[in-house]
Amino acid sequence: MIADDTEVVERNILIKFGLFGEALLEKIAKKQKILNDDFRLSHMIDLLVHLHIIAEVRVNHLNIITEDVDFEKEKVHVVTDVKSNKEKIKYFFPCALPSYDKLNPALTEIQPLLIAWEIKYSGTTTLAIPQGLFPLTIVHLLERKKEEVDFSPDRDSHKFYRYHDAMSLRVYERYFIDIINRYTHLEIHFRGYKKSYSQIVAEVRELLRKVMEKSSKNLKVEEDTKFIFAFKCPEKGTYCIVREKDKSKGKASTWCTECVSQCNVLDLENDDSYRCWFSDQLSSPGNKFASLEGQDPPTKKCGVQHTELDTSNLIHILDILKKHGYSGVDYYYLGLRLGLLPRTLDVIEEESKGNVRNGLRECLKAWLEQKDNVKSVGGPTYDTLIQALRDEEENAVADGIEKDINTKK
Ligand SMILES: [Zn+2]
Repeated sequence: MIADDTEVVERNILIKFGLFGEALLEKIAKKQKILNDDFRLSHMIDLLVHLHIIAEVRVNHLNIITEDVDFEKEKVHVVTDVKSNKEKIKYFFPCALPSYDKLNPALTEIQPLLIAWEIKYSGTTTLAIPQGLFPLTIVHLLERKKEEVDFSPDRDSHKFYRYHDAMSLRVYERYFIDIINRYTHLEIHFRGYKKSYSQIVAEVRELLRKVMEKSSKNLKVEEDTKFIFAFKCPEKGTYCIVREKDKSKGKASTWCTECVSQCNVLDLENDDSYRCWFSDQLSSPGNKFASLEGQDPPTKKCGVQHTELDTSNLIHILDILKKHGYSGVDYYYLGLRLGLLPRTLDVIEEESKGNVRNGLRECLKAWLEQKDNVKSVGGPTYDTLIQALRDEEENAVADGIEKDINTKK
């Protein structure tokens, strides 16, 4: 009975989060009689990783908590928590996830970027992608450094996608993209765009390019043709294919597959929703858009927000949290997001005997001392604190702190 329960839980985690551990794979492999003395479980895992069918994920990626999950209209109480599963869950298998049936509208403030291959046939150009591109691309993205690409929060399943044909990912720690498989093309949405993000959007495009190059190599499509970036054509509902570094214009431009009069979406006056993806390739003196702002590239860390903090800052951090109304009751979860491990937080919880104030103090102290995985989550900076608060849906506190420290610069 107990064994069955664990298996149900493991299967549920696989279906809901696409995550599994060696134990479940072993059970399946044994049932299917795949394993023998020459082909052991470790060989099977190596093979799946090598083929980019699964991605190895670090344990602190996971923020799975006890919750009631609606599995195909059947309420199942998923009794999992970080503690009991931290050793078990190690692999991400996107193909195990269910498919999306409805995507939320108004995903993005800017036009989605399309990725595909051009198929030319008797004067007509359409787009297509090779089979298997979507899961492969997701796995490649998750194989990148955690600072570049990470999972979106698990707890916000109503906000983020985690399906075998639509995935939300966190990029450069602070931004979110959605990748949707449209079967003729991949559609990339960038969430919460602001004018000052144009450089980041361009970085995301380059990141996608690197990953797509890897995927096309794996799928052996690279030799014949190269993938292209495109937009949905505003006129015809067909495509505006991006010609990067267009020779005749000396910059990126678009080519409509069916419009008699070209839409030139990258040159639209007062509309950055297309060109923000290619702002770096469009910049030339006198280009209004390029001179809009000095940017904050994700690779360059500077300023108060990124300064590493230590225990001498503890009192100031406690003050600033209090000032902006952070109650601290959920300090355990905040601690997890800051990179502390459950065993550390368990000790803190026990020693503070229900006193939230003391618990929060010890939690932040451990963070400032860079215990456990703090370093790999970005280290003790205001930036990581603000992000952790946002992930805990403490947006007002996060905004307040951000405003405070930036005005103090
Ligand atoms: Zn057009």
